[in-house]
Amino acid sequence: SCGICVEKCPFDAIEIINLPSELEDEPVHRYGDNAFALYGLPVPEPGSVTGILGPNGIGKSTAVKMLSGELTPNLGRHDEEANWDAVLDRFRGTELQNYVEKVIEGEVTVARKPQYVDQIPKQFDGNTRELLEATDERGELDHLIERLNVAPVMDQDIDSISGGELQRVALAATLARDVDFYFLDEITPYLDIGQRMTAARLVRELAEDGERSMMVVEHDLAILDLLADTLHVTYGEPGAYGVVTDPKSVRNGINEYLKGYLDNENMRIRPNAITFEEHAPRESVTGRPLFEYPGLEKSYGEGEFSLTVEGGTVYESEVLGIVGPNGIGKSTMAKLFAGQLEPDAGELDFRMDIAYKPQYIDIDRPMRVDAFLASITDQFGSSYWDTEIARPLQLNRIMEQNLTDLSGGERQRVAIAACLSEDADLYLLDEPSAHLDVEQRVQATTAIRRYAENHDATVMVIDHDIYMVDLLADRLMVFDGEPAERGHASPPQEMREGMNDFLADLDVTFRRDERTGRPRINKPDSQLDREQKREGEYYYSV
Ligand code: ADP
Ligand code: MG
Repeated sequence: SCGICVEKCPFDAIEIINLPSELEDEPVHRYGDNAFALYGLPVPEPGSVTGILGPNGIGKSTAVKMLSGELTPNLGRHDEEANWDAVLDRFRGTELQNYVEKVIEGEVTVARKPQYVDQIPKQFDGNTRELLEATDERGELDHLIERLNVAPVMDQDIDSISGGELQRVALAATLARDVDFYFLDEITPYLDIGQRMTAARLVRELAEDGERSMMVVEHDLAILDLLADTLHVTYGEPGAYGVVTDPKSVRNGINEYLKGYLDNENMRIRPNAITFEEHAPRESVTGRPLFEYPGLEKSYGEGEFSLTVEGGTVYESEVLGIVGPNGIGKSTMAKLFAGQLEPDAGELDFRMDIAYKPQYIDIDRPMRVDAFLASITDQFGSSYWDTEIARPLQLNRIMEQNLTDLSGGERQRVAIAACLSEDADLYLLDEPSAHLDVEQRVQATTAIRRYAENHDATVMVIDHDIYMVDLLADRLMVFDGEPAERGHASPPQEMREGMNDFLADLDVTFRRDERTGRPRINKPDSQLDREQKREGEYYYSV
């Protein structure tokens, strides 16, 4: 225990080893007696992108309310009237001084993209065009609409467009504004990798264009790496306290985060390090085939979407990653394998037990989480199940909640747990990283990988988070085609071959971090980018 909580640590996946020195100081804000306290603030920097990296629930919204002047920091004295002059005294001589002065003068204008874009239709009544019209403060709206491919939904009602479309509309609306401080609470949910890269580049371009400060919370580490100049790591205990570190370089910040240890702070934030293999892993699969499947065809109605899946073999005990743009048929194929859809051509007749976690999770029933999970496995409650499933998926805090009351991220974790708890031959997970924060992704990845290894389980995982795919997959299945028109799935390939196919389509190359071997997206047209493209090595450059 870190000594702060009297009771059992609520954040039991993370063991805070030493007391952060910040906690000896006064917090920046405390909501009340024994209520949540925030230590440290992120620093907006004109002309650059400041990233925030850490789990949800430890104070980033509080921080942003203060940076936008909406909430006056009380410096821990919640029983006194908070005032900005005291705040200025506290931050005099620090990097925040100039910023706080501007907030006091009322000179900081703010635009904010909310985290949960699916809430937007509840607040806005009208179509996309009407929503965007009012935001065109820089005369750049048409350009944003084009880059983010919003044109096809301009005349559609906001309450009728998909999550990915809503995310792109929300990004266009925020980036079209002309303000000093932009706060973007996640740019990647619902987007595929190509769309994530576009969003990241637009944010960078706006920062580089002048004196604007961009601040971004992001849980996709490959994208955060591409996006940010500096990084604040956040850690703490949800509901109890949160700490925002001083800024780090984006490279060091992500490396330290993955290592689980913050150098300057002398602080362990996770018992285990997350490491990447630099070389294409596990040269070939030696296991026995689990099953073979024939070529498959599936289309939805006359002239609508059609999918072609080339036949292939899935081996025992392998993890097969599945990648491709949105609307290309990945979920459709998952449904074919899971027996929820019938193919038009080709026959799938396996006598296998398949555990399937669909992309859109439907577990709404009047039942508690613990009862639900206990109904799936008689391992429920065993110390083994607790270590392998409940802890890494942070289920202990939500066991007594009703399934109907769960947030998106909680629902996802319960659904992953339910899938892995089944006794099956094949585990099929459609977008397990959706709605998870960075720490939950790291833990879920570890849990899925460990489960596969310990149970000789065969797993298929569809995901857009390239770090998650890299850490999980032994081989890769790549989709291409024309989204919403036709999709094509290649047979499973070796990682090197698969990544090359996939990334060549996206025109993106990765290099390796010298110190940790972590993959990093190359700047387009940099020397490495050109070299690797020439050699056809998009991902494994060694
Ligand atoms: P992905 O998982 O790769 O994003 P999907 O398999 O969900 O792709 O969808 C592929 C295409 O099929 C999309 O254009 C989608 O709108 C369409 N589609 C999916 N389900 C149905 C359905 N039940 N009826 C008609 N069209 C559908
Ligand atoms: Mg899908």
